[in-house]
Amino acid sequence: MRIAVIGCGFVGLVTGASYAALSHEVICVDKDERKIARLLQGEIPIHEPVLQELVIRNMQTGTLSFTTHLEMAVRMSEIIILAVGTPSLADGETNLSDMEQAVGDIALCMNGPKTIITKTTVPVGTNHKLQSMLSSLTDEVSIVVSMPEFLREGSAIRDMLYPDRIVIGTDRPESVEDIIDLHRPLTSNIIITDIRSAEMMKYASNAFLATKISFINEIANVCEKVGADVTQVAEGMGYDHRIGPSCLQAGIGYGGSCFTNDTQALIQIAGSVNYESKLLKSVIDVNREQRRIIVQKLVQLFGQLQGRTIAVWGLAFKPNTDEIWNSPAIDVIRELIALGAAVRACDPLALPNFRKHYDHERVVWCKDALDAACEAEAICLLTDWPEFGGYDLARLQQVMKQPVLIDGRNMYKSSQLDRSDFIYFSIGRPALN
Ligand code: NAD
Repeated sequence: MRIAVIGCGFVGLVTGASYAALSHEVICVDKDERKIARLLQGEIPIHEPVLQELVIRNMQTGTLSFTTHLEMAVRMSEIIILAVGTPSLADGETNLSDMEQAVGDIALCMNGPKTIITKTTVPVGTNHKLQSMLSSLTDEVSIVVSMPEFLREGSAIRDMLYPDRIVIGTDRPESVEDIIDLHRPLTSNIIITDIRSAEMMKYASNAFLATKISFINEIANVCEKVGADVTQVAEGMGYDHRIGPSCLQAGIGYGGSCFTNDTQALIQIAGSVNYESKLLKSVIDVNREQRRIIVQKLVQLFGQLQGRTIAVWGLAFKPNTDEIWNSPAIDVIRELIALGAAVRACDPLALPNFRKHYDHERVVWCKDALDAACEAEAICLLTDWPEFGGYDLARLQQVMKQPVLIDGRNMYKSSQLDRSDFIYFSIGRPALN
């Protein structure tokens, strides 16, 4: 099939490359000329495992191309996928201006009936508004289908090609055969539902995962006070198939755009129909407080941080990405600086991105974890990059002023610390040494 993907951000690129890998003819459109120029050179503006190889391979085979010419892409395609961004406004409401602009532009260049698929996360009711907008601008009969995207940064291609479910939200279930064909090689549950339920499914899924994270973090905080170990507790809970093990890793909470924006947006959606979401407000509060624990533990240990040098391991909001949006590291570094500490920070991928937005004279940007630890009085481990979890503690101790590790992701096991002098704190587990 011939597909136009509108928006070459994270979702658009992964979507385009994956459908091209399924042998569809895909043309990706973006209004950002510099981004398209880079993509045409094979330069991928985001870090995502496998994405670069997939894009280049499909460009070479001719199944994937990039353009700024929306009209040409729309006219040559039977299916149009909307993957433009929907940032949050200050009050948590979703900014739909890019969506509306894209749909308006598409309407002006329709040359026949098409299926328009919304992958962008949009508030309940938006796809109906877009359908009405389209009908008022063009006589070509098109259907708008909501297909929320559940992929995760860091494993997006795998999530796209082996999804847990494919959700097709439509008012015309009899007309979705071409969408099912589009996904034919993928073996996963296909859920055909109404548009509003599909829109809601995305928010409900992300809000539930955020709730699970805040829940286990709250349990961790209680574990610490009663002398229990949250990793053991979570393991025991996770074996219960009604609970499941994912998102039960206690730590300093979630970051990134999806959990943050979607939870906030769902509160806003509920508020718009006079329902106060007390649970989700608490989820956000618990998450906000959780990232403060790192500095609280340092203060508890040192009394005051003025003039101390603290290493920060991890700037990305999670491993395998250079995404720093709402990363816990932003708050932790800001607080360390506010309390008079000097910071030595490192991240395997996200350092350039982080530095661009949060540079400060009291932060030294280091090439790796060992470099960051040099002369530091404590290490704060904020992102669970695998390489941070297996450090030779004896080697670390040699370069540090004193051996203190505040593990915000519970990466170290007590057996790793047995033969070291490290003072070790983690989240919801007994302190060691
Ligand atoms: P993004 O902001 O990175 O990318 C959006 C792209 O759309 C930009 O390159 C922008 O230039 C382009 N664009 C905007 N208006 C356009 C127009 N009128 N014509 C052509 N191009 C246009 O966004 P993203 O991270 O790819 O996310 C897109 C949507 O998918 C968001 O609503 C998000 O909530 C949802 N989503 C994101 C993720 C994620 O992990 N990032 C996962 C699932 C769903």
